[in-house]
Amino acid sequence: MKFAVTSRGDDISNTLKRRIETYLLDFGLFLQEEEPDLVITVGGDGTLLQAFHDYSHRLEETAFVGIHTGHLGFYADWIPEEVEKLVIHIAKTPFQVVEYPLLEVIIKSNDETEKEIRYLALNECTVKSIEGSLVSSVEIKGETFEIFRGDGLCISTPSGSTAYNKALGGAILHPSLASIQIAEMASINNRVYRTVGSPLVLPQHHTCLLKPLNNVRVQVSIDHYNPDIGEIASIQCRVADEKIRFARFRPFPFWKRVKESFIGD
Ligand code: NAD
Repeated sequence: MKFAVTSRGDDISNTLKRRIETYLLDFGLFLQEEEPDLVITVGGDGTLLQAFHDYSHRLEETAFVGIHTGHLGFYADWIPEEVEKLVIHIAKTPFQVVEYPLLEVIIKSNDETEKEIRYLALNECTVKSIEGSLVSSVEIKGETFEIFRGDGLCISTPSGSTAYNKALGGAILHPSLASIQIAEMASINNRVYRTVGSPLVLPQHHTCLLKPLNNVRVQVSIDHYNPDIGEIASIQCRVADEKIRFARFRPFPFWKRVKESFIGD
């Protein structure tokens, strides 16, 4: 089996990365950063998000597993003390794979090129205005649903529903539900402006299209980074055809992870 190990870049994560590489090489596995079967991330959820984007061109071939060197991560759910156990699992057993849905985002630019750029998000896409309120039409399945006015909108995956979406009052969705969730950021609601005010969950094949209407500069984020897109005509979101594959070496059910992350013992 071919593996790669990525690190957050701090001393603790770098040392652990080198240890894992040495152990797995001793077991006769191959270190192969270009085309790995398994990517082991060491750091936090941000490290796994980065690895997902680095290897998003080969999601059918590459599986991911995360170790956290800080507080419990949602994707990075192994602790450094378990590394020996994890390495033995990787070396000795064919791993099971759990697939989670992803968000497809297609951004159309507003210049004469009308260029379309496609992104995949593991957590979410956010749309905010850089100055003033964002005014955007929200179309669902080709029909205008509402004109949103406020700070912005967050469109998340089920596994991203515990991240930014949760801070916005969105529901936590189990990743077996192939869906996307639209959550508002501080919508303006009064006699003149009206939005639904509740997070919406769209099933697979239902598309959400956002078209910014006022001339404010719009900032789009895809997970942890903000691509520089220029003027935006529309942002289309739906459940992606691709999925992320997590390597599972022990049961750690989603609701247990939610409990351990947010409620504790
Ligand atoms: P970061 O270092 O600011 O981390 C943000 C926190 O989000 C970390 O504690 C991380 O463990 C946690 N996190 C990431 N994905 C998660 C998930 N799926 N479920 C539960 N917690 C999760 O930034 P980063 O590590 O680069 O992560 C980027 C993510 O930060 C974005 O995708 C977004 O979801 C999140 N974020 C959250 C807020 C907020 O909650 N108000 C604001 C901005 C960004």
